[in-house]
Amino acid sequence: ALVVRHRMKSSGKWAQAVTILREFEEKCGTPISKLKQVADAMTVEMHAGLASEGGSKLKMIISYVDNLPTGDEKGLYYALDLGGTNFRVLRVHLGGKEHHVVKQEFEEVSIPPHLMTGSSDALFDYIASALANFVATESEGLHFSPDRQRELGFTFSFPVRQTSISSGTLIKWTKGFSIDDTVGQDVVGELTKAMERIGLDMRVTALVNDTIGTLAGGRYNNPDVVAAVILGTGTNAAYVERAHAIPKWHGLLPKSGDMVINMEWGNFRSSHLPLTEYDQALDAESLNPGEQIFEKIISGMYLGEIVRRVMCKMAEEAAFFGDTVPEKLKIPFILRTPHMSAMHHDTSPDLKIVATKLKDILEISNTSLKMRKVIVELCDIVASRGARLSAAGIVGILKKIGRDAVKDGEKQKSVVSLDGGLYEHYTKFRTCMEDTLVELLGEEVSNNIVIEHSNDGSGIGAALLAASHSQYTEADEP
Ligand code: BGC
Ligand code: MG
Repeated sequence: ALVVRHRMKSSGKWAQAVTILREFEEKCGTPISKLKQVADAMTVEMHAGLASEGGSKLKMIISYVDNLPTGDEKGLYYALDLGGTNFRVLRVHLGGKEHHVVKQEFEEVSIPPHLMTGSSDALFDYIASALANFVATESEGLHFSPDRQRELGFTFSFPVRQTSISSGTLIKWTKGFSIDDTVGQDVVGELTKAMERIGLDMRVTALVNDTIGTLAGGRYNNPDVVAAVILGTGTNAAYVERAHAIPKWHGLLPKSGDMVINMEWGNFRSSHLPLTEYDQALDAESLNPGEQIFEKIISGMYLGEIVRRVMCKMAEEAAFFGDTVPEKLKIPFILRTPHMSAMHHDTSPDLKIVATKLKDILEISNTSLKMRKVIVELCDIVASRGARLSAAGIVGILKKIGRDAVKDGEKQKSVVSLDGGLYEHYTKFRTCMEDTLVELLGEEVSNNIVIEHSNDGSGIGAALLAASHSQYTEADEP
C-alpha cells in the first residue's frame, strides 16, 4: 500500500509539472492574429516616436546618418565596437569603388565584469588603452601622412541621444551595464578624455549604434538594404526613413531626402505582448525594471534566464528534480542562452546533451528521458516566442516603409541586414523567425524580402561612416 501511495504522489507531481509547462506555453502563445497586432502596434509606435520627442516608448532616434556608404570610401580608418561582454577594435583599409575593403584587421577584448558596473572613467580608460595597444600594431607606413590624425568610427550599442554624427549623450544603459556617472554624458567626450589621458591622438568622426553600423555595412555590399536588425545579447532595429516623414526633425532636409532612424525597439511594449509571471519577475529583479520589455522576451541575455525561472517553479511546486530544489538552479543567469540552445538542438535519441548540460551547469543528475524532453520543450516555447515576436517587429518596419505588400507586380527587393549571436548561432531561433516572416507576409511578398546575414557589419559600417564624415577632404587622400 505504501508503494502504491508513493507512486500516486509522484505521478501527481509529474502532472503538476506538466500543468506548469502547459500554462506557461499558453501564456506565451503567438498565433498569427496576435503577431499581426504586435506588428501593427509597432508601426503605430514608430509614427508616435517620429512625431515628437518622448511621444512613444520607441525613441526613434535620429542618427544624423543621411547618406549610406556608396563604395567610394577610401583610406585607413579605425573602428571600436562596444556593446556587450566583448568589444572589438578594428583597422580597415578602404580602397574605393574598385578595391572595396583592401584589408581588415581586428582584435576582440573581453570586458571584465566589474567594469560593467564600475565608474565611467575606469571603463573608458580600459577601452582607450586596448585601442592604443591595437594602434601600436599598425605596420609602418600604413598611416600614410604623419600630419593626418587617425580617425575612428565608434559603435556604441546603447541608447544614445545623438546631438550630431559624432556626439551624443547616453540615455540609459542596457544589457547588464550599469554605470551611473556615464548616463547623461557625451560618450564621445568620455572616450576622447580617456584617449587624452593616455596620449592617444585620435578623433571620433562618427558615433553610431550597432544597428546603424550594420545597416551601413549591409548597404555597402547591397544597395537594396533598407533596414538592419540585431538579435544578440540585446535586440534593436534601424531603417531608412524619408526625412520629411519625421515631424520631430527640425533640421535641414538632407540632400538625399533620407534619414536613418535607430528605433531602440528593445524598449517596445504593448498590451499585445504575451507576458508571463516569469517575465514580470525577471523584469522586477533586473537592473532596469520596467525598461526594455521587448528585449527581455527576445534577446540572448534573457532567454536562458526565462527557462531557468520556469524550471525553478517546476522544482519548487512540483518537485520536478526531487524533494529539494537544486541549489544551482536558484542562481539567476546561471543558465545562459548558448546552453539553452545546445539543449534545444540535441538530436541524440536519449538527449545526452541535455543530460550533460543539466549536470555540468546545474548539478542536476539522474534525469529521466521524459524529464529531459520537458526541458527541450520548454526551450522551444521560449525561443519560439522570441523568434516569432522578432518577425512581427520586422513586419512592423516593412509596413511603415510600405514594403509589406506587392504593388502592381513590382519586384523591388527589400533587404534586411541581420546580425547578432542569437541570429548567428541559435539555428532554431533563426529558422523560426524566418518561417514566421513568410507566414506573416505571405509567399508572394516574401519573395521580395531578403534576410541577409551581415557578418560583423557593424564594425566595418562604423569605419565606412568614419570615412564619409572625415575631417579631411578627398584631396588629402594619399
Ligand atoms: C541597446 C541597443 C542595441 C541593442 C543591440 C540594446 O540593449 O539598447 O542600442 O542596438 O541592444 O546591441
Ligand atoms: Mg555586436
